[in-house]
Amino acid sequence: MTETKQNNFITIPQLENISFLIQGFGTERWKEEDFKRRPEWKNFRLLFLDQIHSDVIQSIDEIPRGNLKGDAMVTSLSSLFLIIRTADCLPALIVSQSPKVIAAVHCGRRGTCKRVVQRAIHRMIDHYGCDPSVLLVALGPLIGSRCYEVGEDVLMSFEKDGHSTESFQNHPTHEGKYLFDLKEANISQMLNLGIKKDNIFSVDICTHCHRDFASYRRDKDKASRVLSFIGMKG
Ligand SMILES: [Zn+2]
Repeated sequence: MTETKQNNFITIPQLENISFLIQGFGTERWKEEDFKRRPEWKNFRLLFLDQIHSDVIQSIDEIPRGNLKGDAMVTSLSSLFLIIRTADCLPALIVSQSPKVIAAVHCGRRGTCKRVVQRAIHRMIDHYGCDPSVLLVALGPLIGSRCYEVGEDVLMSFEKDGHSTESFQNHPTHEGKYLFDLKEANISQMLNLGIKKDNIFSVDICTHCHRDFASYRRDKDKASRVLSFIGMKG
């Protein structure tokens, strides 16, 4: 989990020996134009979504014209960077080595309630023939559970949609408030689909505590967005 000052993004070391894969979680210093500064990436196209806190999954089987709407992209095509923008939400990058398929998922509170990560994994299985038991998952910086206070309405919305409330804890001092573990909520959804716990890797950085990362809760409307990306070499 070493951050390379030079590159301004973090990678997951356990995924670095996959020869065809490029993955990273940008700090606030890593900008869109930085992708083109690396000669070895100059042929990559950058794909962004108009993120809408939904459970809409986009399969990228050809290059789209303009941004698609949704909160996850899945592809078997190489030379594309699937890019997710976040400020506190969880970015999840998923890779299948055989067949070669990648996904990038924006797991916010609302998307998590709608099980966006499960829908993305289902798409990998149903549309691309992936085996969930060998998928590898990289979880990026997100707001940690100690910093993520939510109201009872959030807890109730999860209960209403049939989720366990294990990812919520009573706030230690604020009565009627809860601390929400967004990462654990998503990990639990992944495990339920047959992803192996040992195949899930996390950078374990709280965006709210670390100034290198965008945090909506900390900086409100001034918050920028950090870029998380995954791509396959051609
Ligand atoms: Zn924190």
